[in-house]
Amino acid sequence: MNLLQPDRDALAEWCAQIGEQRFRATQLFRWIHQKGAADFATMTDLAKSFREKLAARAEIRALPVASEQVAADGTVKWLFDVGAGNAVETVFIPETGRGTLCISSQAGCAVGCRFCSTGHQGFSRNLTTAEIVAQLWYAEFALRKRLGLADGERAITNVVMMGMGEPLQNYAALVPALRMMLDDHGYGLSRRRVTVSTSGVVPMIDRLGDDCPVALAVSLHAPNDALRDSLVPLNRKYPIAELIAACNRYLARAPRDFITLEYCMLDGVNDRDADARELAALVLGAPGPLGERRQGLACKINLIPFNPFSESGLKRSPDARVAAFARVLQDAGLVTTVRKTRGDDIAAACGQLAGEVQDRTNAKTRVAEASIRIHRRTDAALAAAAERPA
Ligand code: SF4
Repeated sequence: MNLLQPDRDALAEWCAQIGEQRFRATQLFRWIHQKGAADFATMTDLAKSFREKLAARAEIRALPVASEQVAADGTVKWLFDVGAGNAVETVFIPETGRGTLCISSQAGCAVGCRFCSTGHQGFSRNLTTAEIVAQLWYAEFALRKRLGLADGERAITNVVMMGMGEPLQNYAALVPALRMMLDDHGYGLSRRRVTVSTSGVVPMIDRLGDDCPVALAVSLHAPNDALRDSLVPLNRKYPIAELIAACNRYLARAPRDFITLEYCMLDGVNDRDADARELAALVLGAPGPLGERRQGLACKINLIPFNPFSESGLKRSPDARVAAFARVLQDAGLVTTVRKTRGDDIAAACGQLAGEVQDRTNAKTRVAEASIRIHRRTDAALAAAAERPA
């Protein structure tokens, strides 16, 4: 039993099965997720007999770190080995007053978005809950240690499920992981600070609203079905009108009163002023091209500069084009931001994850060669980050 797997209810159930009081689970859960303990012997306020049972039956097993890189801007990217030649990436993005961790939910991805490096890699497998949580567990406690944070101070204030994979296609593992992030005896993050990003798995958006509503981001990337079909193949199954209707149902339960729409800016593909006007009309609920009634959506739009990779055949929109596109949306009254690219120099920016994974055979060798340099850079960057005002 890897104790990174169960949420607190499941852990209580397991404690009962091994003849322990259920409330012991909360103590144990706090040791693991609030203090980062990996050794039962250090859990000094647990009865010795309980610790012995734990040592005989369970472990706290993190994911092996295959590599760690730090960008000039302080962004940290870890490559975790998940076995059988698969690896997933996790990215920490430090900003003034907050630290965001971008977590992967699958090794590879089956959705196959045209502009996404992970999508081009194909799908290997779903991660388990323990593998999802292990990314947060490792990053939080590694960063706390290196930043010299006091007991109770957190390195990670926000989590986004925007790494490799479509989280809503790994729903059974995702939801317990989200519950552990939100649990006051675990990571204690508010629902507003945990974001699930989806390419639009409509039925699972509804289920998430029922089971564990957190902030929602939708990868839209196109203002109409014809274009979205070609960029996000899942659109052929769940077209835009159904997606917007699901988002509106979700809003009734969501911790925020808007959905974030992600829009990757692709040169000459979806970045014309006409596309921006069509997007504005879509979310404002203007009649469709044939005069049909459409549902609008309370949203914020996040424009993402594309991070090119050779297999995509796509190019990044020029900065001026992105600014012009944003202006059209803003003039229509829509809150629009342009995402700052982070971690460009270590291929940690959006849609870039998987570059190293494709070259798995050499990953370990390259890591060994680079480890001293990388760790020096890591320590220097984290020390610099620690000096910045919180
Ligand atoms: S953008 Fe997300 S859903 Fe699309 S292929 Fe990439 S990881 Fe999968």
